[in-house]
Amino acid sequence: MSFDMPDYVIVGAGSAGSVLASRLSENRRITVLLLEAGRASHPLSRVPISFGLFIDHPGVNWRYSSVPEENTANRHIPVPRGKLLGGSSAINGLVFVRGQALDYDSWAQMGNRGWSFSDVLPLFQRMETFEGRGDDHRGRHGPLRVTEEADQNPLYDALFAAGREIGIPQNPDYNGASQEGICKTQTTISRGRRMSAARCYLDPARGRENLQIVTDAVVQRVLMEGRRAVGVVCRYPGGPVTIRAGREVIIAAGGIASPQLLELSGIGRPEVLRTHGIEVQHPLDGVGENLRDHLNARLQWSLRIGGVSYNERMRGLGKLREAVRYITNRGGFFSLPSAPLLAFLKSRQGLEQPDIQCHLVPYSVRSAKRRELGTEPGFTTACYQLRPESLGSVHIASSDHRDQPAIKFNFLSDPLDRRTMIDGFRLLRRLVHTKALDGLRGEERSPGETIQSDDEILDWIRSHAETAYHPIGTCRMGPRGGRTVVDERLRVHGIDGLRVADASIMPTMVSGNTNAAAMMIGEKAAELIHEDHGSR
Ligand SMILES: Cc1cc2nc3c(=O)[nH]c(=O)nc-3n(C[C@H](O)[C@H](O)[C@H](O)COP(=O)(O)OP(=O)(O)OC[C@H]3O[C@@H](n4cnc5c(N)ncnc54)[C@H](O)[C@@H]3O)c2cc1C
Repeated sequence: MSFDMPDYVIVGAGSAGSVLASRLSENRRITVLLLEAGRASHPLSRVPISFGLFIDHPGVNWRYSSVPEENTANRHIPVPRGKLLGGSSAINGLVFVRGQALDYDSWAQMGNRGWSFSDVLPLFQRMETFEGRGDDHRGRHGPLRVTEEADQNPLYDALFAAGREIGIPQNPDYNGASQEGICKTQTTISRGRRMSAARCYLDPARGRENLQIVTDAVVQRVLMEGRRAVGVVCRYPGGPVTIRAGREVIIAAGGIASPQLLELSGIGRPEVLRTHGIEVQHPLDGVGENLRDHLNARLQWSLRIGGVSYNERMRGLGKLREAVRYITNRGGFFSLPSAPLLAFLKSRQGLEQPDIQCHLVPYSVRSAKRRELGTEPGFTTACYQLRPESLGSVHIASSDHRDQPAIKFNFLSDPLDRRTMIDGFRLLRRLVHTKALDGLRGEERSPGETIQSDDEILDWIRSHAETAYHPIGTCRMGPRGGRTVVDERLRVHGIDGLRVADASIMPTMVSGNTNAAAMMIGEKAAELIHEDHGSR
């Protein structure tokens, strides 16, 4: 590493960290060192369908799993997280959702000035070049290319018709004025290629002399001098190194690793730190608390007619045909996001905004973990509650940074979450049992018609639902006290020279997949830091 003492050391080159490093280093007078634990890239990362391959891939994925909990039938639930430049944006399902205005307005309402929807909308706009239709809510000149899914399939037409039949409108832009409806997915895919945060923000900045990007660099702890963070200790292939920061250390290691790193640095709940023999540098009760994630229930159906699902199209020589299709026109199976169609729905009457998100997928899989296609033609529908109330935690399980932290989701502990998941499940069945799908719908394969009562549905969800890979909230932003970790300027309470900037700072869940919001947090962090140091 060539910088003696960079102004800023950023830990983690994921969705937020990549954006932050790129925006900070736009000012050539300041130096930025970006440290990433994972590798630089993977040859298949640019191919969208790689998310299925990477979901359990040791080379690019931290492959955490949750501790068994009674609420979810004592299962270890897989918690994939990206471990390469771009972080989770380089392995994710490429679905692009900003959330609802209400999400950000409620963050501001909690005392976080500068985070209302009208405050963050310009950041979302600055971030993207949206290549689809859309009104002035959208950005047209940003580094991140966002497109509308182009795949065509009679199943999609039938699902739109099914929506109309039960009063669900078709929405041309769920990232525009209103989220509600059934829609073609907007994706971080352009011309058949994945648009990760690394691709869109770091690649164009690589030539800058004031930005150094170092991969295979695992930060073990933040270096503290009294109440000031002065650098990091890092494991690097050449041996351990200590790097001092001239101005600040910014942790952007994501919803699982950021609280882990704070605790390994002696910042957190004293009883947790002492249990693992870590000296308390700064007691902070919120670290690792307030974990939220989307619990995803996946229903699978067989299809009556041939030629529609990718289960058939990918059989035998079909795989080769799809590969040729991808190479020649960047279309077909290999170009798909995790779900080509989305629906944002209200689980009951009287709600102001949707509280359920559904993913609609033109194939079925054998298991969520392996993502292998099932042999028979089928399709998948999945739903989660947009804003879950249940709170879990992430805490270190040992003082060794190589050990996984203990992830406790505590899913379904809140009655509203149980009710909403049951209602969402029933809503999916209602959508699929419309006349519009009569000619297509085969039998319900999973869970199957035997599951009918609320108790049966809930039991099935407890024993089968997985996360949608959106852990947030573990370094919660908010005014001091109340189990918060950072203030509205993302500074760790009570410590100088240390911020957290990633999905872990979200006080509550955004209404949708979390990549767009995490990248927006990277934009916001850069703006705040430039303001605080007068470097804009
Ligand atoms: C399989 C999967 C599918 C998903 N699908 C979607 C989707 O379709 N749409 C969507 O919007 N969201 C999706 N998400 C979620 C979304 O990608 C994340 O919310 C977002 O990327 C989080 O950004 P982040 O910056 O908080 O963390 P990350 O992007 O996870 O970045 C954290 C980075 O820090 C690095 N790091 C961690 N510890 C250390 C350390 N000690 N030292 C150095 N570096 C470290 C990691 O290797 C990683 O690169 C998905 C996530 C996954 C895992």
